[in-house]
Amino acid sequence: MYTIRKQFKFELAHQLDEAYSKCCKNTIHGHSYICEVFFSAEKLDDTGMVIDFGKIKNVIGSYMDSWDHALVIPDTMRGYYLESLRENNENLKIVPYNPTAENMAEDIYKSIKAMNLPVSKVRLHETTTGWAEYTEKKITKIDVRQWQKPKRTRGLSFFKRKLQQQKNLQTNDTSVIVRAAGSMACTAIDNNEDEMDIYDD
Ligand SMILES: [Zn+2]
Repeated sequence: MYTIRKQFKFELAHQLDEAYSKCCKNTIHGHSYICEVFFSAEKLDDTGMVIDFGKIKNVIGSYMDSWDHALVIPDTMRGYYLESLRENNENLKIVPYNPTAENMAEDIYKSIKAMNLPVSKVRLHETTTGWAEYTEKKITKIDVRQWQKPKRTRGLSFFKRKLQQQKNLQTNDTSVIVRAAGSMACTAIDNNEDEMDIYDD
């Protein structure tokens, strides 16, 4: 597995709906964010890269810039307050979540993924000492009984081939572990481990 990392920086103001610390709740305040975006691939492309750094900047540069000097407010704030902010801010993002570093990391991850880049993790530093991270653990459960014919024993290569035909398993850039219980039930777990195994429970 190969992983590369591209770092972005932005100054951003937000207001939290709920927060333990009073300095973060009930007031608009800002942070100097550092956003680390990780991209992974099991195999390199013809040029020996996971993805060209230049392409990353090309595809997501303007999106990442859109966070710079933005004001991020949760949509749970009162209507008149949101309206007032809307009228007086050019870069206002009203988001359907409490804009914590965790939620923003997830938002950024999903937005980059929607641009068809092989993003594997987003780490968002809100302060010099605190960051939040979002990544996906892809778990796909597949009942292999649909492929099992009576009195027929199926081997590893058969299940591997069948699983690779599943559109929801991205076997091109991730490896798959197959766990089969008596070849009757099967769980494919994409956790970036470089092995494939079938065993009986
Ligand atoms: Zn804050």
